[in-house]
Amino acid sequence: MDEKNRPVVNLISKPENMLKTVYTACRTCYSADYPINIFNGVDDEEKMLKLIERVISSGHYSTIEHIQVTFAISNVSRACTHQLVRHRHMSFSQKSQRYVKEKGQFDYIIPPTIDRDDSLKAKFVSFMDKISEQYQEFIDAGIPAEDARFVLPNAAASSIVASLNLREMIHLANLRLCTRAQYEIRTMVKMMCDELVKQESWLKPYLVPKCVRLGFCDEDKSCGRMKTKNELGIS
Ligand SMILES: Cc1cc2nc3c(=O)[nH]c(=O)nc-3n(C[C@H](O)[C@H](O)[C@H](O)COP(=O)(O)OP(=O)(O)OC[C@H]3O[C@@H](n4cnc5c(N)ncnc54)[C@H](O)[C@@H]3O)c2cc1C
Repeated sequence: MDEKNRPVVNLISKPENMLKTVYTACRTCYSADYPINIFNGVDDEEKMLKLIERVISSGHYSTIEHIQVTFAISNVSRACTHQLVRHRHMSFSQKSQRYVKEKGQFDYIIPPTIDRDDSLKAKFVSFMDKISEQYQEFIDAGIPAEDARFVLPNAAASSIVASLNLREMIHLANLRLCTRAQYEIRTMVKMMCDELVKQESWLKPYLVPKCVRLGFCDEDKSCGRMKTKNELGIS
C-alpha cells in the first residue's frame, strides 16, 4: 500500500505491569491469598503465561477486561472509521466534520485497487477535486460545515482516538484480521496489534485472525489459511 494511503497508528497509552495484572486477576479466582500478595509475589513469566492461557481458553474473559489501551489513529478513510465505531465496547473521539472546516482540498484515501491503475486514479482524483470545489462553494456561501459536509465522500481522511480493553482488543483482532474483513480496517487493526505486541510480546498468540484461535475457518469459504468446518466434517 502506498505510504500516502497508509493508516498512521500509535499506541499512546497502556498500563504498566499488564501481564502481572492479568495474572493477578486469574489467580485471585483460585486462591485464598490477597490479590495484592499474588501481585507482589509473582515474577515467573512462564508460570503467569501458563495460567493466563488456561483461563482465557476456558472463556473466563473478565480477567482480561482490566487492561485498557489507547491508540491515536489518523490517515484512515471515513469508510474505515465507520466500521471501527461499530465495536460497542470501544470508546472513541473522532475529528468532527461539524467543527473542523476543510480548507482547500480535503485529505482523502485512495484504495490500492484504484491507486495502482493510472487512468482510474486520475478519474478518482478529478472527482475528489470536484467534491472539494462544491464543498468550498457551500462554505463560501455561508452554509455551516455541518451541512456542507454532506457532500464529503467515504474516502475523506479522518483521525480518531480509540480506547478498548484487552478482551475487546482480542475480539477486534480475531474479526478484523480475517481476510474477509475490508483491506483498510484489516491494515489498521494489524498496525494496532503490532504496536501492542512491540511492547507486550506475550499477546502475540491472541492477536490473530479468529481461525487461528478456533483451529478452523467459520466463514462459508476459506481464504486457504484454515479448512472450513464443512471441509473438516465438523457440524
Ligand atoms: C467481515 C465483516 C463484514 C461485515 N459486514 C457488515 C455488513 O454488511 N453490514 C453491517 O451492518 N455490519 C457488518 N459488519 C459489522 C458486524 O455486524 C459487527 O457490527 C461488527 O463487526 C462489530 O462486531 P461485534 O458485534 O462482534 O463486536 P462488538 O460490538 O465489539 O462487541 C463484542 C461482543 O460483545 C457482545 N455484544 C456486544 N453488544 C451486544 C448486544 N447488544 N447484545 C448481545 N451481545 C453483545 C457480542 O458477543 C460481541 O461479539 C461486518 C463485520 C465484519 C468483520
